[in-house]
Amino acid sequence: MLFQEFAALLRAIEETPSRLRTVALLAQAFRQLSPEEAPKAALLLTGSVAPPFTGIELGMAEIEAAKALAVAANLPEAEVRARLLQIGDLGALAASIMPPRPATLRVSEVFDTLLHIARDAGPGSQGRKRAALAALLAHAGPDEARVILRSVTGKLRLGVGEATILDALAHAYLGGSAKTPLVERAYFLTSDIAETTSRAQAGEEALRSVRIEVGKPVRMMLAERLPTAAAIVEELGPHAAEYKYDGERVQIHWDGHRFRAYSRRIEDITHQIPDVLEALQPLTTHPFIVEAEAVVFDPASGALQPFQQVLNRRVRRLTTEILAAYPMKAFVFELLHLAGDDLLDLPYRERRARLEAFVTSSERLALSTASLVNDAPALQAFFAEAISQGTEGVVCKALDGRYQPGQRGTSWIKYKGPAGGSLTDTLDLVVVGAWWGRGRRAGAYGSFLMAVYNPEDDRFETITRLGAGLTDQHLREQLPRLLDPLRQPQQPANVVATLRPDVWFVPSIVFEVQAQELTRSPMHTAGAGVLGNHRGLALRFPRFVRYRDDKGPTDATTTGEVLRLFRRGGE
Ligand code: ATP
Repeated sequence: MLFQEFAALLRAIEETPSRLRTVALLAQAFRQLSPEEAPKAALLLTGSVAPPFTGIELGMAEIEAAKALAVAANLPEAEVRARLLQIGDLGALAASIMPPRPATLRVSEVFDTLLHIARDAGPGSQGRKRAALAALLAHAGPDEARVILRSVTGKLRLGVGEATILDALAHAYLGGSAKTPLVERAYFLTSDIAETTSRAQAGEEALRSVRIEVGKPVRMMLAERLPTAAAIVEELGPHAAEYKYDGERVQIHWDGHRFRAYSRRIEDITHQIPDVLEALQPLTTHPFIVEAEAVVFDPASGALQPFQQVLNRRVRRLTTEILAAYPMKAFVFELLHLAGDDLLDLPYRERRARLEAFVTSSERLALSTASLVNDAPALQAFFAEAISQGTEGVVCKALDGRYQPGQRGTSWIKYKGPAGGSLTDTLDLVVVGAWWGRGRRAGAYGSFLMAVYNPEDDRFETITRLGAGLTDQHLREQLPRLLDPLRQPQQPANVVATLRPDVWFVPSIVFEVQAQELTRSPMHTAGAGVLGNHRGLALRFPRFVRYRDDKGPTDATTTGEVLRLFRRGGE
């Protein structure tokens, strides 16, 4: 496919608010792409040239990309810079200065150059990257240059989530949405959109034969939440409850030669947890994949520390001092693969038995504490014990539950405390807009429009306006740094809102928010499609708790979850 056609497709997608139309446009394009091009196009649609776990990222500095643009457009660098300052958007600037040209660039060619640019590192790489980009732009017309520059600087924000791309693959190659779960399964097992695209294009059999691969992260299974011990026992019956450790979730792969560790966001965090990996060294007789919560403990008392302490280890270079001050212990709770056997489809009780036989505890390594509970009082007692040990509560697991990659299945339910007529657990909400502050806060953001994620539509639905709990320092320094690059001139196509904030953002940043209760409101759209009457759910007395940098927008609390909380009396 010509890159110009691809660029036109992206423009059409940006302009349509309809998700169905986006899926149809994408599906049509996928049908036209060759087997070599389709996986590359899928990666480009996600704004990348390689899956996130590879660490290969686009993200050239704007100023460098502007220099390449100046060369390609044959304009003085100073002029391009001055116009960039005026327009503020490198893609739009490129579209306004590049002359129309006959379309010659092909999707593969552009992708290969971008990949080459992303991979190039080391001495002299900056100059080489610039030259490669300028050479590519020399063949690009306005629309093509716009997409290339947004991509190379990591700012191609189409508002098309993975869920939409997966759905489009099912439409393009397998006859429609009925096959979306099959495509999703392949994606959740490999975390690789390029491989998933190739397999979808090859047909159902190729999708069905996907297996997990040691070294490639599996999308993590997530927990539902319920407000009372009784509701959990009603849902699961007799089950296993485990301590819910308050640290960082990590999936660790040993392929026989080396360790790889992945975060919840499927990023490679191997270098961040050398002490945890050392503790796992005794287990390395066969390849394996385990999941654990890595928790910081107090080196003096051994007491477990809350999640915030993990942040002290998020530095560029982990020194021995930092490792000594914030040591980590891994509490292992899952075994997904061992010595050639995939265990995902075994019932929990069998996976747990294999895990218990596999893990030998040591100072830095332990199995998650688990207990069989038959009724609500037993669960309540175990919960109290868990809290007294410095954990956040419990995760309750169905005994016959399989490991469901990428799903917030009902076979894991978290419980962080009894409901007292109010919301006891926090929600993870996505920032989609902001209002300017007044008075003391004039000139800075004052409050934010927050949304839940609706995975069925791949849309963000608003649930509250948030101002409380944010300090002046958040509003003046930290949040502008995070949010300014995400500003959008119009309401993003994947945001469903009634309110009109002063500024819109690409849904990306997740805040943890505490609130008192859920009510119905015509001002918000969360769950309105299900509840009807143009009234969605809204939070009363929301309060900012913290920025969740370990979560992406699609990891946020979902519409389904808030609807269930509302209905089950968590309100
Ligand atoms: P939260 O914000 O409540 O920590 P989350 O949204 O990060 O939750 P959930 O899947 O909803 O993730 O809740 C389960 C989380 O609890 C897991 O992602 C994991 O990080 C953590 N956890 C701690 N101990 C366990 C355990 N024994 N079993 C499963 N998950 C555990």
